[in-house]
Amino acid sequence: MQAAELLNRLGVTRERFARGAFEVRSPIDGAVLGFVDHADAAAASAAVAAAHGAFRDWRVVPAPKRGELVRLFGEELRAAKEPLGRLVTLENGKILQEGLGEVQEMIDICDFAVGLSRQLHGLTIASERPGHRMMETWHPAGVCGVISAFNFPVAVWAWNAAIALVCGDPVVWKPSEKTPLTALAAHALLERAMARFGAAPPGLSQVVIGGRVVGELLADDPRVAVLSATGSTRMGREVAPRVAARFGRAILELGGNNAAIVGPSADLDLVERAVLFAAAGTAGQRCTTLRRLLVHESIYEPVVARLVAAYGRIRVGNPLEAATLVGPLIDGRAFEAMQAALAEARAEGGRVHHGERVTVPGAESGFYVRPALVEMPTQTALVWRETFAPVLYALRYRTLDAAIELHNAVPQGLASSIFTNDLREAEIFLSAAGSDCGIVNVNIGPSGAEIGGAFGGEKETGGGRESGSDAWKGYMRRATNTINYSRDLPLAQGIRFGAD
Ligand code: NAD
Repeated sequence: MQAAELLNRLGVTRERFARGAFEVRSPIDGAVLGFVDHADAAAASAAVAAAHGAFRDWRVVPAPKRGELVRLFGEELRAAKEPLGRLVTLENGKILQEGLGEVQEMIDICDFAVGLSRQLHGLTIASERPGHRMMETWHPAGVCGVISAFNFPVAVWAWNAAIALVCGDPVVWKPSEKTPLTALAAHALLERAMARFGAAPPGLSQVVIGGRVVGELLADDPRVAVLSATGSTRMGREVAPRVAARFGRAILELGGNNAAIVGPSADLDLVERAVLFAAAGTAGQRCTTLRRLLVHESIYEPVVARLVAAYGRIRVGNPLEAATLVGPLIDGRAFEAMQAALAEARAEGGRVHHGERVTVPGAESGFYVRPALVEMPTQTALVWRETFAPVLYALRYRTLDAAIELHNAVPQGLASSIFTNDLREAEIFLSAAGSDCGIVNVNIGPSGAEIGGAFGGEKETGGGRESGSDAWKGYMRRATNTINYSRDLPLAQGIRFGAD
């Protein structure tokens, strides 16, 4: 099924994707999928104004009723999982299984948010004063801006939107300029849900297609109370000070440089399968992609030999075909960045296995590569950087302390793993002296998180948390309340003021 047909099925009207100044091409074979226009700052500002207007009404709708809208959205997503997943594959290039998985993640977060809509609870706190009670209440924060990256073109928005909407925040979404069509389609499904819901104030949820200008406007506009920005660390470095300058709240989900430690007791069958999915899956284009493999010296040679052989067998090809495990890179720039990293690795004494371009019949203009495994003598400046392509650097270590030091030496802090059957090693890695990341796993790879946990990372990954656990608190404002039900006015800290 072609893009136009899918968009039509998903409820996107022709004028939204059939004309416009910007061509949208598929990374699969370069085919033109549609045309869109980019909003300017004035249009983005108008969207924020409408969302700000919607906030006045939405914030007083009872949270479980707000959850009902998200429940309907989940229903729309369930019904549209196949066409939307396929459109993700056409526009982003990830394999169909992962395109469908991305939509499933949207469904899962809707389910989570519906339950959450009845659990936005605060604490009651013992007061030091007689006849007094203290408590915490949580209120909607205001408009939530969402800036998303190309590699999860719709799921990241859904993580934010489902939670923000039940929390009482209208949403203005600026998707990646590389994936506008899936954004229009996903938003059309929410529009369907809003129509069925019947009581969504105008402007409650909007998608604004555009580039940096729109993102900058969301960063600067004081009416955007919370800005959730997902993308490169470079982008976060630009966005964060702008939001901070107006004392706005930013949830930053930026680049990763994720590692796995393979200890002497590791189950090597598990390691092989986990590494293939985490390092080569999604063509290395996940923020949680495994980029560094730290292997104990006693098993380094067999582990690397096994992985090099497995890499040679990976089926690279058209992501719509069921047997394919690795689809194309997003564009030629990603290919060039990968090849430049491999050249740099060679110059630094690295031994490069695979990593070459693969020609896929019928899709010759797509940038397909065999994932690369690079044996590095040391953790050089190159290894410190996130190259957003399937390049896995392998390094050897002698002691767990040395491995953890190497692990934590990079500037990013998103996801991490240890493969071991030694309880002590696992617990040390999970402890305060272990991994410094936001996601720390044992015997599974660093990628493929479930929505139930809070997602995000430390250091240059930005420190934000979204999705499950108590990440909802980032979308609400907290009020501390003290209620006096006595006839006296005792002051805190026993202060005496005046006659009493
Ligand atoms: P990118 O930084 O190029 O773009 C991301 C988004 O930011 C796009 O919508 C873009 O238009 C916008 N943008 C760029 N510069 C901006 C600016 N100055 N002001 C406002 N908006 C701006 O990233 P990408 O290439 O689309 O995605 C890949 C990157 O995203 C990788 O670094 C990856 O690790 C990261 N990522 C992180 C997470 C996470 O949760 N931590 C998830 C997905 C992707």
